[in-house]
Amino acid sequence: MSSLPVLVLNSGSSSIKFAIYEAGGAQPLRLYEGAVDGIGTEQGKFWIKDSSGNKLVDQSPALPNRSVAFKLVADLLHSGDFPRPSAIGHRMVCGAPTLQINQRVTPEMIDEMERYKDFAPLHTPIGAYIMRQALELFPNAPSFACSDSYFHRTMPEVSTHMPLPAEYSAMGVRRIGFHGISYESIIHQLQPNVPARLIVAHLGNGASISAVREGKCVDTSMGLTPTGGIISGTRTGDIDPGVLLFMLRKIANRAKSVEEAADILEAAVSKKAGLLGMSELSNDMRDLRSAIHAGNKKARLAVDKFSRAVASWAASFFAELGGIDMLVFTGGIGENDIAVRAEICAGLSALGIVLDSERNNVRGAAVISAENSPVTVRVIPPAEDLIIVNHVVRLLSEQEEELAGAFAVSQQD
Ligand code: ADP
Repeated sequence: MSSLPVLVLNSGSSSIKFAIYEAGGAQPLRLYEGAVDGIGTEQGKFWIKDSSGNKLVDQSPALPNRSVAFKLVADLLHSGDFPRPSAIGHRMVCGAPTLQINQRVTPEMIDEMERYKDFAPLHTPIGAYIMRQALELFPNAPSFACSDSYFHRTMPEVSTHMPLPAEYSAMGVRRIGFHGISYESIIHQLQPNVPARLIVAHLGNGASISAVREGKCVDTSMGLTPTGGIISGTRTGDIDPGVLLFMLRKIANRAKSVEEAADILEAAVSKKAGLLGMSELSNDMRDLRSAIHAGNKKARLAVDKFSRAVASWAASFFAELGGIDMLVFTGGIGENDIAVRAEICAGLSALGIVLDSERNNVRGAAVISAENSPVTVRVIPPAEDLIIVNHVVRLLSEQEEELAGAFAVSQQD
């Protein structure tokens, strides 16, 4: 087996997650995983652990900005203690119409990402920054961008088109959808028995849900940006557009520029809203559950809103798909929060979904629906890194084939 270390980089608004895989064998093997978390804080977290779970680095450094954060990762990977990557795979969150396919990262591609940064302002700028840094710091390892919206490319126009004046559609405003790599990983894990009519709910810090027919996405809850769709940790989800206009007018009175007004509005709907905004306590479902146990009514209302939103989207997809065969929960909340799964499924009982409460209570149970439930309900952890590695391996081999083809043609010439 020839060695093929692949570095996976997954940047969020305040964290950079990374993993090193050995992809030279039949199945990619994860050797190390780590993260720098809490970018923008005095005391962040920086850790890396090996495949047995042993922590090799566990620090709490100051992380004033993303450049300090990424330098920690790059220095560690250049230390000689870890395999030097032969290729790099990035999770790309970007709505640029030309960037919805997985492709080799080039400086021009990053320029295009930056032109569309307003479509996902919390994700695209840091992703573009990390890609530029990776090109510079790992010049011998080709970088590939895996679009988090690639999975949604099969949606029909009735799902993607937004009812706006045509000039905005021409600018690329449409439903794009995110969490696509997580959805791909669920389909990958269900193969070869992917049910014909499937709904997958990815419930993490960001939450979305997708309708999948014969393995292909036909609809999804997130829109042009990851702020749309279901209420999540700090984001509103879908909201009456008149509310945004009301807020904008209030904000405009105190903002010094249009840009500042947009930033304040952005923070209000994307960083301070959702479960955090409603509970006035936390965006973390674990904190909200403890608060609910202690009788906190705002936490109860926030979680009820969340469960209702997921159930409502699922019910609408149920109608769209003409019934469903399987509902899958994934993401940190979907995998771990027993009560949320029970609440969502109770909201779907009219559609014939029957949960087995004993199975649902067992951590790690794969199937949580009752024997007689016409819809199978499953819990499947996402495996996003693995999907990125698979894309990188495929893109690398396509690139090699292209080079070999070009070489053969030049020999003939
Ligand atoms: P991200 O979208 O950042 O990848 P995750 O998929 O890790 O997020 O999900 C984070 C969410 O999962 C948080 O709201 C967290 O509270 C929730 N979560 C994690 N573990 C549990 C648990 N044991 N019980 C309830 N919620 C949990």
